Amino acid sequence: MNKGMVYFVGAGPGDADLITVKGKRALQLADVVIFDRLINPFLLTNVKKDAKLIYCGKQPCKHTLRQEDIQKEILIHARKGKTVVRLKGGDPSVFGRVGEEAELLADHHINYEVIPGITAGIAATMYAGVPITHRKHSNSFAVVTGHGSKKDGTPNIDWANLANGVETIVFYMGVKHIRTITSQLIEHGRDEGTAGLVIQWGTYSRQRTIEGTLATLANQVEQAKVTNPAIIVIGNVVKLRANLAWFDQRPLTGRGIIVPSKSKANREWVQNLKDSGADVFEHEFLTEDPIVNNEALESLKHLSQEHELVLLSSKSVHQFLRAIGKHGIDLREIGASFAAINEEVKETLKMVGIQSRILRKKKTESMILIGGELEIESVRDQYRYSSFMKAFMLSKQKAADKDREAFNRLVDEHHVNILLLTNHSEVVHFLKFVELSGISKEQIMSNLKVICVGRVLASIVEAKKVFVDKCIETQDVSGIIAALEDGVLAKES
Ligand code: SAH
Repeated sequence: MNKGMVYFVGAGPGDADLITVKGKRALQLADVVIFDRLINPFLLTNVKKDAKLIYCGKQPCKHTLRQEDIQKEILIHARKGKTVVRLKGGDPSVFGRVGEEAELLADHHINYEVIPGITAGIAATMYAGVPITHRKHSNSFAVVTGHGSKKDGTPNIDWANLANGVETIVFYMGVKHIRTITSQLIEHGRDEGTAGLVIQWGTYSRQRTIEGTLATLANQVEQAKVTNPAIIVIGNVVKLRANLAWFDQRPLTGRGIIVPSKSKANREWVQNLKDSGADVFEHEFLTEDPIVNNEALESLKHLSQEHELVLLSSKSVHQFLRAIGKHGIDLREIGASFAAINEEVKETLKMVGIQSRILRKKKTESMILIGGELEIESVRDQYRYSSFMKAFMLSKQKAADKDREAFNRLVDEHHVNILLLTNHSEVVHFLKFVELSGISKEQIMSNLKVICVGRVLASIVEAKKVFVDKCIETQDVSGIIAALEDGVLAKES
């Protein structure tokens, strides 16, 4: 019997780029992904389009999937021969229960592999400017759970040994009990002037830090209303932050930006935005499904010279030829003439032996647009005269579960606050995704600032009844960064 394979994958602490190469590869192989609340939702866009996603959001006080149920799910799918990824925040072996889950698989003789990740206690600290060890200031560190195993919910810890035996202590799941933690450490001999730091949403652009001492930290954290996910770091190595807080000081800190594009052309400036401190989620969100309409293919045989087939992209040229070939039509049976939407498409047609002319801006009812659903919509959008024109659709768009899940979680958990639109195709694609996902434009506008590059684009977006919060006049990346820095108040939680 094929028993399947389970990968326990550490997703890293937050920043989506902090997953390992090996972990990302495993995600791409998965038939089933069982994921925790604390993973960066954007990682889900990386899975196969038909992968099954199972959320086991463990929110404090609100266990949506119990541990036994999670284990059951892993087992069920592995036994069906599936490749299962159990995606966990940070590292699977640090307060991640990988021990119990792997043990179960071992008992059932199911193959598994554990792919480590970067744990929050090491990554979030360094993002906050604190190296967990330092030759002069920290020769040892401990990771400790601050989550209660005692009846009153407080952690069951050997305080005397902890307070005096380790230089730097990192508490996970501890903000709720910060008063107990700090007072116990003081009571058991740690100097009340020892530096302390709380880091919330570490390694995300929205990372927040509160710095104080054992004596002050509990009050500060309560006042600032810091909630999970957050770690508490106790030890004088925290003081190095004064010089080393590299992450806090970047111009786009706090900006979570969606760029709904797959364009390679954007890649460099997207990296620039990331280097400037923003979280950038660059993804098209839509998936293309080829469609075959046999009737429409048949009707192509009956066209004559005055009909004109207008190819809308190079990709459509190839898709079209493949479709007619598969259907058993010889290109020479098609009596219509050919037109291309632009020079590039004309050239592609030429390379496959079809002479065409560039589409002229004159309306004619004998034209048939040939392309993907959105290419057709986009032409109808841009050339007002073509709204009535016939079309031959080669593919339809769909919003895959993975992309819907990723998008909704990014918005619901306030990882994003800006929607950045840089060209017409992004606008069309994104609004289609919104429509197919059943998300209202009002929802988008109330959660995200909509920012357009260029006035023309802004007016196209507004014509589609989406209010534009800001229009950036320049295409230049430093100009875009400056504009994002200036006056874009995050629509925060
Ligand atoms: N396996 C994870 C930890 C899971 S326990 C790891 O290795 O990081 C969950 C706790 O981890 C949270 O309550 C919080 O204390 C901490 N944590 C996880 N991600 C965090 C982040 N981005 N910033 C701060 N703390 C985080």
